[in-house]
Amino acid sequence: SKLTKEEILRKADELDVRFIRLQFTDILGIIKNVSIPVEELEKALDGEIMFDGSSIEGFTRIQESDMYLVPDYNTFSILPWRPKEGAVARLICDIYTANKEPFSGCPRYILKKVIKEAEEMGFTMYAGPEPEFFLFETDEKGRPTTITNDKGGYFDLTPVDLGEDARRDIVLALQEMGFEIETSHHEVAPGQHEIDFKYADALTTADNIATFKFVTKAIAKKHGLYATFMPKPIFGENGSGMHTHQSLFKDGVNAFYDEKGELGLSDTAKYYIGGLLKHAKAFTAVTNPTVNSYKRLVPGYEAPVYISWSGRNRSALIRVPAAKGQGTRIELRSPDPSANPYFALAVMLKSGLDGIKNKIDPGPQTFNNIYEMTEKERIEAGIESLPGSLKEALEYMAKDDLIKETLGEHAYQHFVRAKLIEWDIYRIQVHQWELDQYLEIF
Ligand code: GLU
Ligand code: MG
Ligand code: MG
Repeated sequence: SKLTKEEILRKADELDVRFIRLQFTDILGIIKNVSIPVEELEKALDGEIMFDGSSIEGFTRIQESDMYLVPDYNTFSILPWRPKEGAVARLICDIYTANKEPFSGCPRYILKKVIKEAEEMGFTMYAGPEPEFFLFETDEKGRPTTITNDKGGYFDLTPVDLGEDARRDIVLALQEMGFEIETSHHEVAPGQHEIDFKYADALTTADNIATFKFVTKAIAKKHGLYATFMPKPIFGENGSGMHTHQSLFKDGVNAFYDEKGELGLSDTAKYYIGGLLKHAKAFTAVTNPTVNSYKRLVPGYEAPVYISWSGRNRSALIRVPAAKGQGTRIELRSPDPSANPYFALAVMLKSGLDGIKNKIDPGPQTFNNIYEMTEKERIEAGIESLPGSLKEALEYMAKDDLIKETLGEHAYQHFVRAKLIEWDIYRIQVHQWELDQYLEIF
């Protein structure tokens, strides 16, 4: 249902839209907005709005700073928490260069390229994310703390508290923006929540994740809370993941399903898993892109550590949910919500396609709880681990041409440069733990 330019202009008029936010995502996955008054909407729809790309992380060099925002008409929607009179709408945009060509470092373009590759093989990727987040109280200056007022746990219903109310309003706002919410629940840690929205094609899902994050933050703020997608905000508690369910369809039929296959999986699905496993170490830098991400990927908190797949086992990196037929899919459990959603989906899909093209055997599924195996047993079973730090992950990525090719020269170079700086700053900090551990004994 592609909206036309005229339809958008008419809607904007009918709904009393005064401002439009032109939304895009930088290389680090941070959502950016350029706000324009409605008088500029027609110009925006024609892709004539320029912005200074040099001020955006990883976009351009100073000498070529002019870039265009080219909106995707399908993404027009009203921000429901803004006033009804003098409403605010948003459009998600692609970035074009001053020569009006797609910018090779635009995350949305990078994902579109992989989607096109899948289409050439006859496949449409569907993805369903499970983003988790924490709701924290703010201090008297409005700054986020790590204090939560709720003591809830997994699927807890009571007591109704600020967290529950905020989550309900987040769901309502998302529904008004056209999201189909499947479930929302309290997660394992105090103050931790999850909202799952219906799977969609990869591009829509990446857009949805980006939108989801800023809607969640905006609504939480209205409740005096701060929503964070930081992967591991509290030591000793579960971190926040963004498990991603994935399947490929061919001619409207789920290509991952084979009635006779192991766990109902087709060879296509098996090879897709093989590709994910093969590139897992390298794409972790993308799906888990912060220093903090690696504090989540440790044993004991329901986050994956070991590179394995399984139908039963929730500790595996890739789990095969029980759903069969059109619902057949695999769930990659390593991504976290600090990832750039466009990059994350691009590297997952690209890895899976590589598996299919090269018939990469995923090996046998793991049946035992990998966390109870000794290191020796794991080595004998050929089970490797995900990278233990951002630095290590970047080193694996540097050795994987497929992942580098997915991001493309521009985004890869800028991403790695930014991440190595992040690592270096972290590396020289003196942590409270070190003081507690060493100050008195040495
Ligand atoms: N919070 C867990 C993680 O870090 C996942 C819990 C769950 O199974 O939903 O991945
Ligand atoms: Mg969860
Ligand atoms: Mg899950």
